[in-house]
Amino acid sequence: MNRYKVTSSEKLIIITAVLPALLQGNYTPTDSDGTCQVALYIEAGRVSQIRQLCTGMNFSAPQGWQVLELPVQWILIPAFVDCHVHLALDGVTGFKGLTGPVADQIIETRLRQVVDSGIMALRDGSDRFKTGLQARYLSRKLSAETIMPAVIAPGAAIFRKGFYGANLGGEGVTNFQEVENRLLQLQKEGADQVKVVLSGLVNFSYAESTGPPHFSLGEMQAIVARSRKYGLAVMVHANSDLAVRLAVQAGVHTVEHGFFLSKETLQLMAEKGVAWVPTVVPVAAALDLYQGSSREEKAIKKIIEKQLNMIRLARELGVTIGLGTDAGAPGVDWKNGYRQEMKLFAQAGLSVPDILTIASENGARVLGLNREMGKIAAGKKPCWLCLEKNILSGVENFNEPAGIFFSFPECSTGKTTP
Ligand SMILES: [Zn+2]
Repeated sequence: MNRYKVTSSEKLIIITAVLPALLQGNYTPTDSDGTCQVALYIEAGRVSQIRQLCTGMNFSAPQGWQVLELPVQWILIPAFVDCHVHLALDGVTGFKGLTGPVADQIIETRLRQVVDSGIMALRDGSDRFKTGLQARYLSRKLSAETIMPAVIAPGAAIFRKGFYGANLGGEGVTNFQEVENRLLQLQKEGADQVKVVLSGLVNFSYAESTGPPHFSLGEMQAIVARSRKYGLAVMVHANSDLAVRLAVQAGVHTVEHGFFLSKETLQLMAEKGVAWVPTVVPVAAALDLYQGSSREEKAIKKIIEKQLNMIRLARELGVTIGLGTDAGAPGVDWKNGYRQEMKLFAQAGLSVPDILTIASENGARVLGLNREMGKIAAGKKPCWLCLEKNILSGVENFNEPAGIFFSFPECSTGKTTP
C-alpha cells in the first residue's frame, strides 16, 4: 500500500479519477460506472480547489507546485469511518476476555490494522476501562510519526444499575444526580460523546424480545438535554422497536444496533435527523458460533434478514446510516470486519456509491468530523483512499486500499455538537 502523508507546508496537485456522485455533495448516485478526472490542489493541509479535467487536455502545474499523477486504474474516495468499535476487545473472547486495562501496544496494533483497512476515523463503543479515551490519546501522540486514525471516545457508558451494561460502563446509575455526576466526569475526562445503554443485547434464542427499555422517555430526555448542555452528543445502545423509538423521541444523536426496529420508527428517525448504526456483522459472525444449533441458527438468520430489509428501507426513507462493525466483538476481527459489513450492506440492496457515501461522509457526520473529512471538497483535509476501479462493479472487490492520503483529522472542539 502506498502511503502519502500530506504536510501543511507542501503545495501538491493530485491528478486522479473520482466518482462524480461523491464530488457533487449529494447522496444521489449517478451512473455508478462513470468516473471523471480531476486535479486536486492542496495547500496549507487542505484542499484549496478542484478542477475537472477534460480528456486529452494538457495539464500544466503552476510554479512551486508538485504534481502527483495517480495510476489510471485507481479512483480516489474519502477515507472510511467506523462508527462503532471496541478497542478493548480482541475479536475472539469478547468482554469475557477483558479483565483489566489494555496495554498501549495492543491498542496500537489494532489502530494500525484499522488504517490498513482504509479507516481513518473511528468511534469507540465504550468499555469499563475507558479504552477509547486511552486510544485517542495514543493515536494523537503516534500520529506525529506515523499514520493513525482519529479516535472519538465516549469514556465509560451510562447504564441503569442492575441492568445490562457493566462491561460498557463499570458502575451503573440509580438516580439523576448520579447521571449528572457521570456527565461532569466525562466532561473532565474530555469525552467526545456520551454512550447510554438503553436495552439488552440481541437474544439469539428468540428472534424478537430484548426486554423493556432501561430508562423511561422522561429519563432519556433529561439525559439528552443535560448532555447537550455539556456539548456532548448521545450515542445509544438500543435494541427492540420500543427502545429505539424512545431514544429517537428523546432526540439522541445516533442509535447503535437497533435490531427489531420498525418502519414507523425509521420514518421518525428520518424526520428527527437521528442517525442509525446497524452493526450487522457481529450477528452474522454469530452464525458460525451457533452452527449446528438449528434453533439459534434459524433465529439468527431471521434477525439478519430483517436488519438488512430495514437498512434498505432506511436508505429509501432518507435516514442517515453510519457503518459500524462492533470490531473486537466475538467473530469480528480488526482487519476484515469493515469489508464484511460493506458486503452485508450490498446484500441489503445498497449501491456502491451509496455504500461509499455511508462509509465516508455519513461516518464523518456521526463522529462530528465532517468539517475535516468525509468528502473530496474544498476546505477538507486530504483523508482519502485510492481503490482499484473494479470496486465500482461491487464492494466485494475491495481488498485493501492501493493507497492512502493522510492528514490527521482533528475534532475541532474535541466534542460533537448534537
Ligand atoms: Zn458495541
